[in-house]
Amino acid sequence: MIETFSPEETFQLGQRLGEQAKPGEVYTLVGDLGVGKTVLTQGIAKGLLIEEPICSPTFTIVQVYEEGRMPFYHFDVYRIGDIEEMDEIGYEDYFYGQGLTMIEWANLIEEILPEHYLEIRIEKDLQKGFDYRRITMQEI
Ligand code: ADP
Ligand code: MG
Repeated sequence: MIETFSPEETFQLGQRLGEQAKPGEVYTLVGDLGVGKTVLTQGIAKGLLIEEPICSPTFTIVQVYEEGRMPFYHFDVYRIGDIEEMDEIGYEDYFYGQGLTMIEWANLIEEILPEHYLEIRIEKDLQKGFDYRRITMQEI
């Protein structure tokens, strides 16, 4: 379990994850709206040496970044209506490809997640302050 006390610290944690990431890995990100999923993802992109700005791919489901140390496949499945939409975009080419896959709101597509992935959970605890975040990572 890791605790951060500012967006910068969460970004730095993401950066370390991005520096250590290996091709073919899948990370899932679970946490409420506004908790810091995009901040962490931006750090990961920095760690992968991606210069392009990362925004939430809310209307496209997946955003692909090819310029870094390895391809980065950033999914946000928050607005997915039907799991068939994942088939239509050919999700398997990403999940089982040679890049890093990162999936925001992965709990919505649980049935198609790969056998192994790193689950990253971000939570607030307002009693510990507005900018406090508890980040837990679990190998599934
Ligand atoms: P999400 O993608 O989960 O909806 P965002 O990353 O877009 O959330 O937004 C998180 C917001 O919370 C940002 O405005 C950020 O500045 C703020 N914030 C405050 N403290 C932290 C922290 N410790 N870690 C990450 N974000 C934080
Ligand atoms: Mg977001």
